[in-house]
Amino acid sequence: MSLVTAINRDRLAALVKREQDSYAANFPRSRAAFDGAGEHLLGGVPMTWMRMWPGGFPVYQAAARGARLSDIDGHELIDFCLGDTGAMAGHSPAPVTEAVARRYTELGGATTMLPTEDAAWVAAELARRFGVSHWSFTLSATDANRWAIRVARQLTRRTKILVFSYCYHGSVDETFIVVGPDGRPVSRAGNVGAPVDPVTTTRVVEFNDPAALERELAHGDVAAVLMEPALTNIGIVLPRDGYLAQVRELTRAAGTLLINDETHTFSAGPGGCTRAWGLDPDMVTIGKSIGGGVPCGAYGLDAGLAERILSDDSADIEDVGGVGGTLAGNALSVAAMRACLGSVLTDAAFAGMTEVAAGYTESVRAVLAAKSVPWSISQLGARAEYRFTPEPPVTGGESAAAADVDLDEYMHLYTLNRGILMTPFHNMALMSPMTTKSDVDAHTAVFTEAVSELLGE
Ligand code: PMP
Repeated sequence: MSLVTAINRDRLAALVKREQDSYAANFPRSRAAFDGAGEHLLGGVPMTWMRMWPGGFPVYQAAARGARLSDIDGHELIDFCLGDTGAMAGHSPAPVTEAVARRYTELGGATTMLPTEDAAWVAAELARRFGVSHWSFTLSATDANRWAIRVARQLTRRTKILVFSYCYHGSVDETFIVVGPDGRPVSRAGNVGAPVDPVTTTRVVEFNDPAALERELAHGDVAAVLMEPALTNIGIVLPRDGYLAQVRELTRAAGTLLINDETHTFSAGPGGCTRAWGLDPDMVTIGKSIGGGVPCGAYGLDAGLAERILSDDSADIEDVGGVGGTLAGNALSVAAMRACLGSVLTDAAFAGMTEVAAGYTESVRAVLAAKSVPWSISQLGARAEYRFTPEPPVTGGESAAAADVDLDEYMHLYTLNRGILMTPFHNMALMSPMTTKSDVDAHTAVFTEAVSELLGE
């Protein structure tokens, strides 16, 4: 093996420029659609984060099925982004398509303010998978987290929550906080319209640092720790051995509730990290994937908390204090969840997805080793992500420091120009039940070329 090769920045800049030019040439209709959309779409996109796709404009989707997506320029892309987990079940899997068609078309009545029998089935299935017994619905993971935080504050009569530096839990005001360079908490740069400085609502520590957690919980004012059992929104940061047991012990000792946000870590298995690693949270939140692409979310509480919130006289969860969401738990999304959990994201499907992800991880690792590239890759069940740092990061701060926008843009455009869609903003690849080994091989070939060119080979 040759020596570890430093990236030549001039070469990288030239390669990025070349890939940007090919992207513009390869996707002219997407570009024209984007150019024409700014008159009435804020920022020219349906949601402003779509401006972050590399190359200056997003690809416009035409259709998507399984692990493939076609665009309006006529390309067929292998989709490792899968809607950043929203489409972990694959695009429009047949059981969900049928359930949605039946509910919307044959039976009719997508949203009526009335329950359907699917809701209790889904709640029982979520209880089986994640261990907490009582479930309720939202339309997004963000909202599931908001409601979990409210319940935690209500039940503990405490005001603060605690999160981990560089976490992401949706647009939940309390969570936009990081450990600053001097070790003190600061509002995350660029946050928009914060109602109050999050340092007044939130304590923050680095992941994998039990001493810091113990110190912050000792204030006695933390209602809940909201966490992903492994961080997935700043690369993948896996917990060190024994760390999650320490988190559980420390939260219990401090009278603080523990909320596992399994929205992304669901990739670890049919019951997310909670089941895969035998965790015992007080609440679980989830969204994105469980409706097979139909908007939905859910939060679950253990039986004791459920009893307490229902019998708390000062908590009017039926009216004034209800989070609401008129469409939450609507007939269409619970039908989709039932089909998705019952027939698509099954225990057997996870075994296959994890095996394909292991193949992806091994191939990327082999290329990096063969070429002595100082990057690392981490796998979490059906998800894997490489990071531009030789050792997998152990904290969010460390992982954030390894960000490299030029390399990111290069890798994303290189793969996209050759028929492979990666998750934007980082280098995550997710496997659906329809993702195959040959999809992985196609990625390995392109990844190998991208790295070779970067090294000037
Ligand atoms: N929790 C986690 C862990 C997430 O990664 C995300 C979104 N990436 C959310 C919650 C919020 O999901 P949504 O934007 O669908 O509400």
